[in-house]
Amino acid sequence: MVYKDYYAILGVPRDATQEEIKRAYRRLALKYHPDRNPGNKEAEEKFKEISEAYEVLSDPEKRAIYDAYGYSGLRSTGYRGFEDISDIFKAFSDIFEEFFDFSFEEKVHTRPRDGADLSYEIALDLEDLFQDKKVKLEIEKFEVCDFCKGLGYDPEKGVKTCEVCKGTGRVTYTEGFFRISYTCPDCKGKGKAYIARCEKCKGSGKVWKKKELEVVIPAGIEDGSILRIPKEGEPGLFGGKPGDLFLRVKVKPHRYFYREKNDIIGQLKINFISAILGDKIKIPYFGEELEIQIPPGIQPGEEIIIEGKGLPDIKTGKKGNLILKIQIEIPKKISKEGEKLLRKFAELEGIKNSENELLSNSKVSKNKKNKFWEKFIFGNK
Ligand SMILES: [Zn+2]
Ligand SMILES: [Zn+2]
Repeated sequence: MVYKDYYAILGVPRDATQEEIKRAYRRLALKYHPDRNPGNKEAEEKFKEISEAYEVLSDPEKRAIYDAYGYSGLRSTGYRGFEDISDIFKAFSDIFEEFFDFSFEEKVHTRPRDGADLSYEIALDLEDLFQDKKVKLEIEKFEVCDFCKGLGYDPEKGVKTCEVCKGTGRVTYTEGFFRISYTCPDCKGKGKAYIARCEKCKGSGKVWKKKELEVVIPAGIEDGSILRIPKEGEPGLFGGKPGDLFLRVKVKPHRYFYREKNDIIGQLKINFISAILGDKIKIPYFGEELEIQIPPGIQPGEEIIIEGKGLPDIKTGKKGNLILKIQIEIPKKISKEGEKLLRKFAELEGIKNSENELLSNSKVSKNKKNKFWEKFIFGNK
């Protein structure tokens, strides 16, 4: 009985992964490829044998049958292997294309390739958004290898005529009455191969480099915006276009303020005396000190708006406002003396307990419409 050990043929262990099987086949296929061994019957047989082994082991179903019942088991399912070489090329046309695309020799091929886009994130503080902000970035990216200019081979040693096609760029394979002619898979039709690969870039044509870049982030930019910086991605090869650099802007949360459109919002807590009598208070505001006027009689939830103190609009430059939402603090405990004074105060002002009441819905919504929540607007000083 005929017995074929497919694992031995490809030189892989019985538990080899698909990747290992493919790699082994690739290596052997390049060695026994009929183009490289014209007229060599032995090489042709070998090529058929490894291709059959690969066909079985790369197919999980066939491999399982082979593992369980051996070669005869596989034959009993009707499997016959390859009759001739052209069947192999037909069956594996995808895989051969892949092999040769990944092959080292392909690097000689100098069709233009566009560079990849890069993306980075930059974190800004809220205060960075008030004016254009210059940011220095250090990005790591590939650059075209300056030794081989992206060719991937040693330019000092140069190129030689492709041995497979003898420089014609095409190979012809004769089988019986048929002559099959196709583009040389070794040099991809160039007719040339190189002598040694570039040691600096290991044949890739590219080297890692750090690059410093200064970018101006426009004032008023929003959190999550993406800035596109043209041509600062990875370089193209052989006349290909460079990629772009995309910067995602992240704005860090601020301790006191947040943003709504171009307005800056903050909460201002004042005591009830300031609320009743009005007051002037100073607050730190992005590198300056702002004096805030509290109008007498301000209510909880009302807003003090300082015009023009917000962020510039990214397109028009028109500035938003600073909006301070008022919280009024009521003391939780007061002294006996204080209580006496407050009762006296209530009497004096005619404030009665009986005025405490449930607000009807209609009254609340009506009040809202009538700008119950009064806003105090101050110009930019
Ligand atoms: Zn190089
Ligand atoms: Zn060639």
